[in-house]
Amino acid sequence: MNLKIDRDFTILTLAELVRINSINPSLSPEGKGEAEIGAYVADLLNSFGMQVTTYEIEPARVNVVGILKGSGGGKSLLMNAHMDTVGVEGMIGDPFGAEIREGRMYGRGTQDMKGSLAAMLGAVKALADSRVELAGDVLITAVADEEHASIGTDDLVKHVTADAAIVTEPTNLTLCRAHRGFIWYDVETYGRAAHGSRFREGIDANMRMGRFLARLDKLEQELRHRPSHPLVGPPSLHAARLQGGAEISIYAAHCLLQIERRTTPGETEKQVTAELQAIIDELAAEDTTFKATVNPAFMRNPFEIGAEAEIVQALEGAMTDCTDAKPIHSGQSFWTDAAILADTGIESVLIGPTGGGLHSAEEWVDLRSVVDLAQILAETAVRFCQVSTNPEKP
Ligand SMILES: [Zn+2]
Repeated sequence: MNLKIDRDFTILTLAELVRINSINPSLSPEGKGEAEIGAYVADLLNSFGMQVTTYEIEPARVNVVGILKGSGGGKSLLMNAHMDTVGVEGMIGDPFGAEIREGRMYGRGTQDMKGSLAAMLGAVKALADSRVELAGDVLITAVADEEHASIGTDDLVKHVTADAAIVTEPTNLTLCRAHRGFIWYDVETYGRAAHGSRFREGIDANMRMGRFLARLDKLEQELRHRPSHPLVGPPSLHAARLQGGAEISIYAAHCLLQIERRTTPGETEKQVTAELQAIIDELAAEDTTFKATVNPAFMRNPFEIGAEAEIVQALEGAMTDCTDAKPIHSGQSFWTDAAILADTGIESVLIGPTGGGLHSAEEWVDLRSVVDLAQILAETAVRFCQVSTNPEKP
């Protein structure tokens, strides 16, 4: 099947999306959220004859869902992109300029992930414009807040579901089948406050945290020597924040350490917490004044899908057709909304455009990869949702 992607529409749409400030307001005070960009996306989806719903999650924070209805009896495919971006401080050039140079578009969100959103819109336009009628539904989901707490996709899964999902986070047009998750931990050590001169009374919580940190450092090195996951590598951790003590002349009664532990597919919260608890237990066995606790504060699961899954096969077939090359299977180090979709039982996979400078001073996307992505997404929908056996659209 050869669906015609409207290249000019796709690139123009990308430029329009980049020109709209959709910086995440939870990250930056100049952030406008997703209301304006959401209205723009909803208008376009309406113009393709889709069923469009805008869900307001919080003021100025919206998800937009468009459904291209199939004729029935086919599988449904959800495509997901976040509309928010990180801030623009320190960027080179105009972050909202959408300037094109040598086949690249520059600006905040070009790769992460307005290029992806434009490709999804280009793909669904091609499906709507064509004479092909699909049996299953195609859902375009443009969501809020992926760059902060993912309130968007968390809310989305309460309202819609599908047989499979493609999350279009940047992957340089590789087929991404796995990424890491994370768990944030609070580790606390407890001492006893006392006047700085009274060493017999004082118990120093900061010194005790030092003991914990020394063991944690060993664990951190050990993690990287564990058998590596074939797509995402080994797990890791870092001691992100440390806060202890009240005044210079007082023994510290309390110290708080916040750890981020990046998990690989197959690792569980229980296992990972037990590793940290084991350090505390060892230290407590060596010194009865050592008192500490470890608690998970927030977590997001890792994600993985098998190469044999139907959506992976459909995407692989479409990629082979569109690019004349055997797709590269990849893993990502960072977490994405694909894990939320996968956790609700939707078979999920990732593919996104080529570019660079995500979250940095000069972000860009390769325009050819955006159009290629649109083609791949449209062809994947045809393979996965299947062409209707009913008579063709008028
Ligand atoms: Zn992103």
